Amino acid sequence: MDEGDIAQEYQSRHNQDAIRAALPIKVERPSRTSCLDCECDIPELRRIAVPGCERCVRCEAENETLRRR
Ligand SMILES: [Zn+2]
Repeated sequence: MDEGDIAQEYQSRHNQDAIRAALPIKVERPSRTSCLDCECDIPELRRIAVPGCERCVRCEAENETLRRR
């Protein structure tokens, strides 16, 4: 390995770091305590099971059905 290879190796590692730094940070949304659609209470178990959930089971199912059409 000569100096050129080392420089190239350094360069590619540096680029990978830059790419990683540019990746959007995944924001953990807090789960809602009430349904976005019908405003009924979302059970705590569901909030824990589905982090960031916004709807109760019924509305979520309806939402999924609508999205598939
Ligand atoms: Zn609902």
